[in-house]
Formats: sequence, structure tokens, C-alpha cells
Amino acid sequence: MSDPDPVLKVALPLPLPRLFDYLEPSSEAAPSADDIGRRVRVPFGSRELIGLIAAIGARDSGDAELKSALAYPDDVALFHGELLASLRWLAAYTHAPLGEVLATALPAALRRGEALPDTHLWAWRLTREGEAEVERLRNGSRPRRLAEWLRTRQRDEDALDAEIEGWRSAARTLAQRGLAERVAVPASQLAPQPQPGPAPNEEQAAAMARIDAAPAFAPFLLDGVTGSGKTEVYLHAIAQCLARGKQALVLVPEIGLTPQMLARFRARLGVPVHALHSGLNDGERARTWAAAWRGEARVIVGTRSAVFTPLPDAGLIVVDEEHDASYKQQDGIRYHARDLALVRGKALDVPVLLGSATPSLESLHNAQQGRYAHLRLHKRAGEAKPPAVRVLDIRKRPLDAGLSPELHGAIRAALDAGGQVLVFKNRRGYAPVLLCHDCGWSAHCKRCDAPMTVHAGGRRLQCHHCGARQTTPPACPDCASLALQPQGVGTERIEAALAERYGDVPVLRIDRGSTRRKDALEKLFDKLGAEPGVIVGTQMLAKGHDLRNLTLVAVVGIDEGLFSADFRAAEKLAQLLIQVSGRAGRAEKPGEVWLQTHHPEHPLLQTLINGGYHAFAEAELAQREAAGFPPFAHLALLRAEAKHADVPMAFLHAAKNAFPPFEKGGQGGFALDPDMKQQQQNQKQIPPPPFSKGGIQLQGPITAPMPKRAGMHRAQLLISSPNRRALHAAIDAALPDVYALPEARKVRWSLDIDPMDLY
Ligand code: ADP
Ligand code: ZN
Ligand code: ZN
Repeated sequence: MSDPDPVLKVALPLPLPRLFDYLEPSSEAAPSADDIGRRVRVPFGSRELIGLIAAIGARDSGDAELKSALAYPDDVALFHGELLASLRWLAAYTHAPLGEVLATALPAALRRGEALPDTHLWAWRLTREGEAEVERLRNGSRPRRLAEWLRTRQRDEDALDAEIEGWRSAARTLAQRGLAERVAVPASQLAPQPQPGPAPNEEQAAAMARIDAAPAFAPFLLDGVTGSGKTEVYLHAIAQCLARGKQALVLVPEIGLTPQMLARFRARLGVPVHALHSGLNDGERARTWAAAWRGEARVIVGTRSAVFTPLPDAGLIVVDEEHDASYKQQDGIRYHARDLALVRGKALDVPVLLGSATPSLESLHNAQQGRYAHLRLHKRAGEAKPPAVRVLDIRKRPLDAGLSPELHGAIRAALDAGGQVLVFKNRRGYAPVLLCHDCGWSAHCKRCDAPMTVHAGGRRLQCHHCGARQTTPPACPDCASLALQPQGVGTERIEAALAERYGDVPVLRIDRGSTRRKDALEKLFDKLGAEPGVIVGTQMLAKGHDLRNLTLVAVVGIDEGLFSADFRAAEKLAQLLIQVSGRAGRAEKPGEVWLQTHHPEHPLLQTLINGGYHAFAEAELAQREAAGFPPFAHLALLRAEAKHADVPMAFLHAAKNAFPPFEKGGQGGFALDPDMKQQQQNQKQIPPPPFSKGGIQLQGPITAPMPKRAGMHRAQLLISSPNRRALHAAIDAALPDVYALPEARKVRWSLDIDPMDLY
């Protein structure tokens, strides 16, 4: 850096696509390339912000007076090497400001500027003087007792906490006299002590061998039916990774990270397993992040945001239930943890293992194209048999809380045989609609123009879109009639009906309403144990706690999902049905699945039941290809919302004009590899090379399928292309103009790359 007056180019957590220049803090030496990725505290207006140094550059002559940064919270850069490069890639791919991406990747405590927490395991030992002096310490005193403990060997602080009350003051006394000292225990002293698992079957062994043979980057799709022993394959691969002295990162959906699962990992791997999930407080999260950063945490198991874990000794990344929608962040930086895991695996040059019984169509397509090694497990492991599936045509049948008499008979029989029953209904609350029988009025949320769900047995109304709540009116607001009736069935209503009918067994409900607290779900399962009982719930039932005694799964009310307009609806429904069904008969007892529907002939159900998930996926992929949807096209959705109805549309029309003009079917836009290109703000104007394969399409703007939410009017513009690079290049070209639009100030807008749905 020959420039005499270098400045820090700082990425700040602001929704502005640029870096900010500062002089180095006055007390510090001139910045060097090693400072890139270092946290820095800077003045910003009347505030102070924590940013990250993104580059060191020359002072811009146009900038009259630069402010000095205030201080560095750390001695070294927190982000460097692979992680910094991957986050730069993410900023480019999501077209989001680098400062916001880096802030998202940091645990909240570090984002606020707190110091990187201490994570060492500390131990105490006697000094040489201490060894000699033990006998001279007063007999029976605490320092004497502690010294005697330490005479044989050093003890870590956890052990001392358990063994000697008040040891800390004794240790201080010894330390002051130079007789004892505190030492950090290196992570390498914690040798793994793995426990053996069941002997792998042939397919598991084949999968394990393929993964063992790939110590460098290689993406695998472990495609195995529920209960086929995928977790055993993960455990094997992680144990191998640990044996090579490397770190393993395991991503799981929020609901999949159960104490049961962590206990299995800890017991089998024989090393501490660090969990990262939303139930932790900020301090715990920051400590785990720091432990991984220092290379002390060897196995990190976490939900979506754990994909940002630093891995200085990376050896393996696993993404369990890779199809799960919870891997996509739906606000702020809209990243997909599975996709970022693949990018990181490539940059780290380690294998990435994606596992699922119902792989996403994207991943299946990649496997079919030969981009991922496709590992199949066709059978359930051990003794468990696949559940028998039965479709129940309920047209014209009398229903009690949405359940037919045949289904009630099956539930009674399963309970009498000592089994557990799971009733799946993808609608929480008591009933989806409150209707006036006399005039047809129904309760609507004014802020969302959508029906309010009836809760608390009819006493309360709640909007599932914006969270608004109110007590149920005593009479119809339009005609004053008292004939207000809940219409339809939700989990609460089924729970009430089942509790009345099966009073001899526990009836539990599992949905977002009943399990808000972090340990509520486990408490419910503990209460049930292995005794006969019924569990009613939403899609939260599709995974999580393993129920060994579950013999009947009853699926009621999936019919709404069969006719959804969204392009991913069929895929989601098929995955849900297979996953929920897969909960039955996981142990020795065989399982049954009863599927209640008004549409027994529906092709989706027929294909799934007769051909299984892969037959469904093939048919669905053909339809996606014909319709030009992912994975055959790449989408980006520009969303806008505002209080006044016309504003989002006006913004989106203007935004549409910011895209370069395209000749129909011809060339336009330009291709830049998002991997290669620098952050937009640093980018010099490069003359656009034309791309050859197809153009981009702009559809809309249109009013969003849900036109109003929480008082905001919503609209959207869909940008698509069969060519991913073309899509990104066009967005890169348009975005600076979009930011600068006067209309942009009047709306809340966001860009969603690879949207999960078009709502
Ligand atoms: P998945 O992750 O595919 O759902 P798991 O790895 O959890 O499957 O295995 C399902 C059950 O089968 C677990 O109880 C597991 O201990 C058992 N299991 C897995 N592999 C074997 C095997 N090779 N022999 C016997 N039991 C096995
Ligand atoms: Zn009325
Ligand atoms: Zn609402």
C-alpha cells in the first residue's frame, strides 16, 4: 500500500449499497491488508456503528473531510479467508449491501460490538514453587486442600466447581503467592471417544464408502426413505472427519434439533457437540461462534443461521432434510442455507452431504444432471417396515370434527392395541372462519383483507397473517344476529373432539400455538412417554422427536393444498405427506397411514401412493420444465409495499424501466459471473459482453396474490431467465437505478433471489 493516506472502506449494517470511508483510529498503526474483515467502531451521524473493514483504499480526493474510526473491538480480523470470500459471494448473489450481509453473519452480541467471548476450557495447576510448598500451607485450610488436589494433576474449572466448594478464592490466594497458575486446555486434548453404532446394511455401507473416498469438495445427495438410516451415514462421516482432526458442521431444520438428536450425536461421537439454535441467548450464541472461530468446537449442529459458523479446520458439511423450507431466510438477507453450505463446501474444499427422504426438485435435478453424487437408501434400516398407506374417500360421509367414522374406528383400534396415533391437520386454531348464519357476514382482518381464524374454542379471533387479535363479537356486527358459527376445522377443534371421545388417553396438540416456549415440545413428549395417546398437530409433526410407538398416522384435510396456485405447492404437499407418513412404524411395530380426502382420484395422490416420491418428482419436474419454472428457470421477485394502494405499483413500473431494454428473443443485458465479480459498490464500469443463451423476462408488476397485509398494499415484479448469469447481470445493471428512484423512498421494497413462493 504505497498510498500515504490510506482509508478504511467500511461495510456498515445499513440498507445502502456502498462502503463508507474512514481514517484509521488515531491511536492505531496504518492499516494493512490483514485488517480486512476486522470489526471497527465508527461515528455515523449522531450514532456509533459497528462495521467491518471491507477494503483498504486510497483517499477519495472528492471527500473533503473524513472522520476517524473510533476503535477496533478485536486485535485481529474476525472474518477472513474462506468465510469472508463466501460472504462476499452471498452479498453479490443476493444483491444485498455487504455490510448487511456481514452483520447477518455475526452473532447479535458481536454485531453490537461486544468482545469476542472467552471460550477456553481453563484448568489450574501448581507451579514448581507450589509443588515444593504444599506441606507448608496451613493444615485443613482451603488453599491447602486445593493444592493437594492439584498435586496429582491439573484440574479443569468444571471439575473443581463440582469437587471443591469455594475453590476460586483459594485459587486466587495460591496464585497471588505464585504457587498455582491458570492454564488454557487446548482443544486437541479432548480426544474423541466414539461409541459404535449398529453395523451398517449394504446400502449404508456403500454410501459411507463413497463419502470416505471424497476428502475434497464433492456434493452428495443422500436420498433415503424415512428411517433408512441416513443419520447413521452422517454419524459415520462426522466420525471420520473428527478422526482426521477436522471440524464438522451439521445443519438441521429448527424442529429437527431435539435434545434426543443431540444426545445421540454426543454419545456416538464422543466429543462435545455445540448446538446453535434460536433457543439460545445472545451470550451462548456468541460463545459457540467464538469456539468454532478458534477451532475449539469440533462438531457444530445448528439451524439456518449456523451456516455462518467459521470453520478454520473444516472437514465436512451436512445438511439434513435439505428440502426443508426453513433453510430459506424470508426477510432481511434472503439467503438459502443449503445453497450457501454448498458454496462454502466448495470454497473450503470439503464434502457436502445433503440428506432427505424427499429431496427438493432442485437437488434431484442436480443429481440427475450428474452435478451431485446420488446415494440411495431404498429400505428402512433394522427391522422397521414401510407403513401401509390407505386412501379414505370421505365424499358424502358424515364427519365429526373433520374425522370420518372409519377413521375413528382405526384410532380406537390403534389405541386399544397400545399404540400411539398422530392426527395431522395443516391448520392451527379452532376454525378457519367465523360466519354469521343469518346474513353471511364473516370475520375479516381489516389490515389484511383476509378471514380471521377462530381460537380458544370460539372466544378469540386471530389473524394468521399479521397476528392481530380480538375477542369474538357477541353478535353479528352487520345484522345483530347471535347465530355466529365457526366454519371448518383446525387443530384446536380436533383436539377438543378427540379429548372428549378418547378421555382414557392423553390427547396432545402440537402447533405453533401450543409450543411457543423452547422446551414445550419435549415436555409434551416426555409426558406422553411410550403410553397410548393421540397427538394432533400441524406440519410441525412432520419431523422432530422420534416416536417409537407410533402405529397410526391419520392425515385429514390436505385437500386445500391440492389446488393451490403456487408453483411449489405440489412439491411441498408431497414432501409433507411423505414425511408425516414416515413417522409411523419407526420401530418394531408396523405402521399404518390413513389419508382422508374428497379427491381420491387426484393425480398427485395417485402418483405418490402408487409410485412414491420419486415418481411424483419426475412428473413434477416435467411440468416445471414445460412451464419454465425452477430448476429450469431462475427467478427473482421484486416486492414492494406501502400504505397507499397505488404506490407499490408506481415504484415497480419505474423499477421495470430501470432494466436494460431487451430485443424480443434476442440479446441484451450482460453476463458477469456473480462468483467473480466484486461488490457492486467497488465495481468499475465493465463493458457488457452479450450473453448467448436466452434473455430475461419481466412479468408484471402485478398486485401480490395476497394484496394487503398488516395494513400494507403489496405488489410484485417477477424477473426470470433460463440463464442464471443473465438474470444476475440484468439485476446488477438495474439495481443502482432502482435505489435512486424517487418512488423508492415511498415504499418498502425487497429483492428475493430464488423465492420459495410467489406470495
Ligand atoms: P433416518 O435418518 O434415515 O430417518 P436413522 O438413522 O434415524 O434414519 O435410523 C432409523 C432407525 O434405524 C434408528 O433407530 C437407527 O438406530 C436404526 N438403524 C439405522 N441403521 C441401522 C442398521 N444398519 N441396523 C439396525 N438399525 C439401524
Ligand atoms: Zn349477520
Ligand atoms: Zn391481519
